[in-house]
Amino acid sequence: MKKESKIKKFLHGSRARTILLVILCAAFLRLALSFAAYMFTRGRPGLASSVYSDKIFPVITAPMKFFASLVPFSVGETLLILLAAAFIAALAVCIVRAAMKKKPRGFLRLLAAVLAAAMLVGGNFFVYGGINYHATQFKDISGLTVENTDTETLRKLCVFLGGKATEARDGLTVDERGVVTDKRPLREIFLLSPEGYRAAAQEFPCLDGWLVAPKGAMFSEIMSYEQISGIFPIVYTESVVNTRTAIYDVPHVACHELAHQLGFAQEDEANFIGYLAAINNSDPLYVYSGYYNGFCYAMSMLYKYDKAGWEAVWSEESIDTQGISADMRASNEIWDAYRKKAPAVSQISEAVNDSYLKSNNVGDGTRSYGRVVDLLIAYYGAELGA
Ligand SMILES: [Zn+2]
Repeated sequence: MKKESKIKKFLHGSRARTILLVILCAAFLRLALSFAAYMFTRGRPGLASSVYSDKIFPVITAPMKFFASLVPFSVGETLLILLAAAFIAALAVCIVRAAMKKKPRGFLRLLAAVLAAAMLVGGNFFVYGGINYHATQFKDISGLTVENTDTETLRKLCVFLGGKATEARDGLTVDERGVVTDKRPLREIFLLSPEGYRAAAQEFPCLDGWLVAPKGAMFSEIMSYEQISGIFPIVYTESVVNTRTAIYDVPHVACHELAHQLGFAQEDEANFIGYLAAINNSDPLYVYSGYYNGFCYAMSMLYKYDKAGWEAVWSEESIDTQGISADMRASNEIWDAYRKKAPAVSQISEAVNDSYLKSNNVGDGTRSYGRVVDLLIAYYGAELGA
């Protein structure tokens, strides 16, 4: 009789079966308890903030952030690749064993392992940040009063932001198309992203916290097809930025993804906090990125409600119409190129993101990104005469 190796004995013995069973039970228990906490905090922002977001979240995410800070690449994406590789290898072994007419017991263990992994990942969502969707929002912590506004105030906001973006754009380098460019390595630009938070935290203390600079996404190409500029995958608390986007979009996206590290889960507040962090950065590209993105959001809102007012803004002397519109065109061209290559992928991605946000208490789904304009009006209210 052929003697089995120690590893084979372990893999096919009762001890491995017991360990797998314990992991399965623990993963299920963790998922069930964290889901119960998620549901219990729904509609209880005070509780979600005071118990989870302010106390538990910063502590339990610290080890992941620490590991993320040690390497220049995305730890989450690496783990995803390793998990996929392990699954394919295990599946291949099962198929070979079945083909050799050995007992197909490996399939059952593989299924159990996949189930355990899925429950661990699902549990991570609730443990490492899902509850933040139920916490008190930035506007309530900061005391900003968001009210219904008129198109005249919105038009004034556009003029204000367009003027600021023009001033910030002045010192930047442009390419032969007249589009802002920057030759620094992206990693260098990413590392600057936490800086503006320190200045912003002087005005809003809730923005004070440990931040780990984002990583360039290994899956940037895929993210571009999905029309995603950045991601903070709650199952691994690490900020990741699409490296295929226009260089003047990168700083605002980086700062947006850092806002999620502080426990601000809503997209409009992350957009606004990212804006504040970008314009408070000492790096000119960051300042432009903040004002430019704020201007883009405000202008697209104005276009929706007052086309004549939108055209009038572009005629303002204080706004570098040619330069800023060249940047907008170049940025749109990048996204459009991917959208045209695979329109179904971007539509599915948009629908998935919309459903994801709606299932997490964000009633208007992906449209919530545009609510940053309400926060901008609330912030600049006095200056705009609102
Ligand atoms: Zn976000």
